[in-house]
Amino acid sequence: MSTARQIEIRRLRALEESFAVAPAGPEAGLFGPYLVTSPAGGNYHVEIRDLKRLRNACECPDLARSGLRTCKHIEAALHHLRRTRPLEVSRALAVPPDRPLVRFTEVDEARVRLDLPPGAPDALREEARAVFDESGGFSARLPEDFFRFYDRVQELGLELEIVEEVREHLADLEEDRTRAPAREAIYEELRSGTVRPSCSELVGRPVLVFDLETRREFTEVGGASRIQDLGISVAVVFDYRDRRHHYFEEDCASELADLLLGAERVIGFNLKAFDLPVLAGRASRDLSGVRALDLLEELERGLGWRVSLQNLLRSTLGLAKTGDGLEALKLHRLGEWDRLAGYCRDDVAATRGLFEYGREKGHVLIRDGRSEPPLRVPVSW
Ligand SMILES: [Zn+2]
Repeated sequence: MSTARQIEIRRLRALEESFAVAPAGPEAGLFGPYLVTSPAGGNYHVEIRDLKRLRNACECPDLARSGLRTCKHIEAALHHLRRTRPLEVSRALAVPPDRPLVRFTEVDEARVRLDLPPGAPDALREEARAVFDESGGFSARLPEDFFRFYDRVQELGLELEIVEEVREHLADLEEDRTRAPAREAIYEELRSGTVRPSCSELVGRPVLVFDLETRREFTEVGGASRIQDLGISVAVVFDYRDRRHHYFEEDCASELADLLLGAERVIGFNLKAFDLPVLAGRASRDLSGVRALDLLEELERGLGWRVSLQNLLRSTLGLAKTGDGLEALKLHRLGEWDRLAGYCRDDVAATRGLFEYGREKGHVLIRDGRSEPPLRVPVSW
């Protein structure tokens, strides 16, 4: 595995596991000791000495063994600094380039910028003016305007380097654009209730796929310990007995709970830590008897870290999630019930697609870096 890929894995783990990061010494500059705490409560002492992954320290065995000069704890601390202290970080990184270079701003990694050294040719400055603002930030449409600019630069025979991460990001955007119709076709098929032939033995059995959207977010109810107060805006169940999606509102929470309790198996993503506790808060039933298959839990057991549904859907099925939880909250507030229900149904459809793929092939796919081939994660559900 390439060094870049190994570093990318640690960077992704740092993002996907939610580490808490706090300065472990007197808060002065960016550099110094930090305490990085994992969701499971493990503490790691990290020393940040520079922002380019060269001289940082952590006490974990991974750093000592890997020879990479970074680990997920260091990456979590760097991510924390980029997010909470962007100005100081950008100042510390402000090293003038010696050649024309397109890269991401370090402050916000998804923003493309162009650095031109003092001696850059006028022709390049001229072309750049159409798509980059005065400070070098890209100000037009990605990726199409960038590609147009770059074609022109090449026609003129001008020297311009684009860092690998940006190339990959542009390629992803282009793929998203060109693949949108194909993605819609995959969703259409899943929505229609088509079951993979290899999973046809499930048809007619009380096997359910379940997801719900909430009325409120954690900050509105006083944090994760009040999960039972989030409420339900819509819940959707795909039932293998009739291969259809069924919709529920909060006032049917108890009927929904009975349906789940009576099922042979209830499939979902992050079901045990999220959907079931939310439902339990609104149904007068004890849900500990639900025979839940939580795909996130299964994958976390194999991988040792939490992977996002987004990553799984994209890598395994070529799907993009149609929105996120915040989008759903917005739709709920606007009273757009049909769109909200459609959004939740698409999540159920996609989760089922993932489940059936894993059941058929014995693995699902995740990507740990944009350019590398996806990783196969064995599953046995
Ligand atoms: Zn570490």
